[in-house]
Amino acid sequence: MDEIKSGKGKGKSKGKDTGIKCSFCGRDASEVTSMVAGPDVYICDICIKTSVDILKNNIAAYNSPKAAKGILTPEEIKAQLDEHIIGQESAKKALSVAVYNHYKRISAKESYFELDDVEIEKSNIMLIGPTGVGKTLIAQTLAKILDVPFAIADATTLTEAGYVGDDVESVLVRLLQAADYNLERAQRGIIYIDELDKIARKSESVSITRDVSGEGVQQALLKILEGTVAGVPPKGGRKHPEQSLINVNTKNILFIVGGAFEGIERIIASRINKNSMGFGAEVETANELEKDDLIAMTEPDDLIKFGLIPELVGRIPVISPLHSLSKEAMITILTKPKNAIIKQFQKLFRMEGVELEFDPLALESIVEKALERKTGARALRSIVETTLMNIMYELPSVDGVEKCLITQQVVEENADPIYIKSDRKTA
Ligand code: ADP
Repeated sequence: MDEIKSGKGKGKSKGKDTGIKCSFCGRDASEVTSMVAGPDVYICDICIKTSVDILKNNIAAYNSPKAAKGILTPEEIKAQLDEHIIGQESAKKALSVAVYNHYKRISAKESYFELDDVEIEKSNIMLIGPTGVGKTLIAQTLAKILDVPFAIADATTLTEAGYVGDDVESVLVRLLQAADYNLERAQRGIIYIDELDKIARKSESVSITRDVSGEGVQQALLKILEGTVAGVPPKGGRKHPEQSLINVNTKNILFIVGGAFEGIERIIASRINKNSMGFGAEVETANELEKDDLIAMTEPDDLIKFGLIPELVGRIPVISPLHSLSKEAMITILTKPKNAIIKQFQKLFRMEGVELEFDPLALESIVEKALERKTGARALRSIVETTLMNIMYELPSVDGVEKCLITQQVVEENADPIYIKSDRKTA
């Protein structure tokens, strides 16, 4: 394939016909910017662009969430979660089932199943686990897979109506915005409420006002979790009397709540120890168990002891624990998911014509640094970003680099990377 330079000048006037015409649209080479020649055929840049657009659309349609066309099975939902979330098998499974049932329940309402008098209740979900292990990511990915509107709220920023801060109902405004104000769609969306543990009642040693507000927020959350019609101001902000409100029914909105519940393992341990008394050595005592194992045994009562009101716990029937991430899991997170951090930077470098490669030891060092910060996988991005900062600064002005190899020294000592240049000399 060869490119034929067009006769199209900078000015507006059309150049002289060259006799070479695009086999698709018939334009002469003088009318276009570029013409590519194959054996006895030509295609102009305009037709190439149109073809690329057609292909892109086809690929997008092929990849579009199947959920838009019908309900995905739990296995299909989990398979898609697997592409983005490393590990957390039991949480992914539990969520896939819960979400499947949720949307089945909604569609039953619209079919003859509604005629019998068995009402399937909503299964809101609680994700328990340390920070940075994928709670938000799972909720977010689910919404994408299912092609439903999704909103995130941080429980610590919510207050009871009338107090300074965001009303609990403000999360509905966000969902409505995520649905482009399509009420129907918003009413079937997913809301993720993070840091639920931070609004727990504190029994001792914390100021009384804080306690009260925590419980008040829980009460307000309870209302929207169990299903209510809430009038929300379309643009958010405070309600005022003259404003027209949009009535959002929360009955079919799926709520996923998350929190680290720091210290709940002690509550669980003491419960297990109490139960194991009298069973002799047959039952493992809690002291032998790791924190992750204890959290995996969370029961509704433990959440109540932690400070959640029983009514709220009752409305969140699925409790799904997430475990802390091992070194291996973190390395996989860096490199494997569809949108893995390393893949993102490799793409950025490729746009510069440079192949970016990480030595396996460099990856290990990045992970070790992240583990020190104790924020799960959350620290990975900023560590990679810091490691590559200087390189990204200087690379565009260095000539002829084909490959950039990140060694352990680059991560640990801020050393220069190994540049492999096109003449095979290293710099
Ligand atoms: P949290 O559990 O605190 O909600 P997030 O889901 O916000 O944590 O995770 C923070 C970031 O860390 C995510 O955006 C993602 O890049 C990464 N991450 C965390 N856990 C995983 C995981 N299990 N698989 C893939 N990426 C993860």
